[in-house]
Amino acid sequence: MIQNLLVLGAGSAGLISAISLKKKIPQLNVRVVRSKSIGVIGVGEATTPNFPRHLFEYLGIPRKRFYEIARPTWKLGIKFLWGERGSFDYTFNLQLDTKWSDLRHPTGFYCDEDFNNVSLPGALMNQNKAFPRQENGAPDIHEWHAFHIENKLFVSVLEQVAREYGIEFTDGDLESVEKGPGGIAAIHLKDGQRLEADFFIDASGFRSELMGKALEEPFISFNKSLFCDRAVVGGWDRAPGEAILPYTVAETMDAGWCWRIDHEKVIHRGYVYCSQAISDDAAAEEFLRKNPKNTEELRIVKFRSGCYQRQWVDNVVVLGNSGGFVEPLESTGLMMLCSHTQTLVDFLLHTNLNPTDSMRDLYNDLTVNGWKDVRDFLAIHYKFNGKLDTPFWKQTRAECDVSGVAELIKFYQENGPTGFCRYRLPNTQTDFGLEGFLIMFVGNKVPYKNRYTPTPQEAQIWQQRKAGFVQE
Ligand SMILES: Cc1cc2nc3c(=O)[nH]c(=O)nc-3n(C[C@H](O)[C@H](O)[C@H](O)COP(=O)(O)OP(=O)(O)OC[C@H]3O[C@@H](n4cnc5c(N)ncnc54)[C@H](O)[C@@H]3O)c2cc1C
Repeated sequence: MIQNLLVLGAGSAGLISAISLKKKIPQLNVRVVRSKSIGVIGVGEATTPNFPRHLFEYLGIPRKRFYEIARPTWKLGIKFLWGERGSFDYTFNLQLDTKWSDLRHPTGFYCDEDFNNVSLPGALMNQNKAFPRQENGAPDIHEWHAFHIENKLFVSVLEQVAREYGIEFTDGDLESVEKGPGGIAAIHLKDGQRLEADFFIDASGFRSELMGKALEEPFISFNKSLFCDRAVVGGWDRAPGEAILPYTVAETMDAGWCWRIDHEKVIHRGYVYCSQAISDDAAAEEFLRKNPKNTEELRIVKFRSGCYQRQWVDNVVVLGNSGGFVEPLESTGLMMLCSHTQTLVDFLLHTNLNPTDSMRDLYNDLTVNGWKDVRDFLAIHYKFNGKLDTPFWKQTRAECDVSGVAELIKFYQENGPTGFCRYRLPNTQTDFGLEGFLIMFVGNKVPYKNRYTPTPQEAQIWQQRKAGFVQE
């Protein structure tokens, strides 16, 4: 029976998993080990709606306290400067996996030429507004609101919460790992401490000290679908009066794309690029040319896309960047972390802290398939982005592997943006669901055969409904 849990790493992954496990299974003794000299990654700032749900509903962290310390800004979705249209909005409510009762076909069939203001969040995004108002003037916050949050501020809130939950912290650098019959028996720190536990969470970031280095679990690369492997990151202080954009921007660049994330006092941008297509210097030059306001010293972050073949081996579970990573085109890092943490908690509770082999196998199937689903979803962003004709984009459109969703693409190309597409989705589904795929197909104007021309009456209903969202 698991009694003592050791979490290696105190970034978002280590702290969220430690707090979640302690909150839901209070009898566990939880210790977090972290290296002050290595620190945290310092990026990872855009979230999806499962993140506030995890913090406020699942963990019960008071909203007010979180807002005061972490100073998040609202995020309604992602503005893609992408595809043939040049721009479209992906919000966190359902825009396209819908059908209005007074229109003959699902919504996507009416968006060929005009894909703006299709829902209330879409209309808000279009006007750079973060929320509707309640009758008393207070912000009306919905389940489709997510956050932008500065990584270091976020980690500091989590650390405070973790201490209040009785989680112990040990500062030190990992020196070596001692194996035992059930997997890892203890870790040794450089200062000579030996720390035993029954169960380990590897949340050591890209170093993947336990799963990658100690257990040598094979890594599944996603490099046939996702070609980018670096980001150049910068930003500037918000000028007085400069609006806070309530969404993440994903802007097509010559050899990748660039995020824009608006915080209260600072705006961060990061150009995710393919190092085989552009040099670091050329990427930095393009970044600066397109972001003349940049004042931050640029830094380059290297990464590889993929995940470990198993996310739970013996008595070690890997979470956060340590276990898998894809570029933040859909802000999936924290989303996957919250989702996998909840699954782990459920499995440990269900087995009364005596996890069975079959439960572990199921965890591995679910989490690894989840990573592959995200890979496939991101791959179609690349496959169908016709905005630029640079060598990188030509090659990406031609070679990007989308075989994981080939059936879905074929079905869409024959039948258009219908809800029946859901039956051609991969088996396991991420939070994006059919909605995410429809947004990418319609947003990028992926051609389909079964087109529909709305009647004049339908066209009028369509325009009136959209105008209603704008007014609301
Ligand atoms: C360019 C980029 C952009 C990103 N953008 C987003 C985004 O917009 N949204 C999103 O959700 N995610 C994003 N991510 C992913 C994001 O980084 C993660 O979601 C999140 O921050 C989790 O980080 P982590 O805790 O796994 O790793 P880290 O923050 O790196 O933490 C690792 C921890 O392990 C400790 N550690 C490491 N090695 C040792 C050792 N040998 N001994 C002791 N301690 C050790 C470190 O000190 C640290 O405490 C992005 C990632 C990158 C690279």
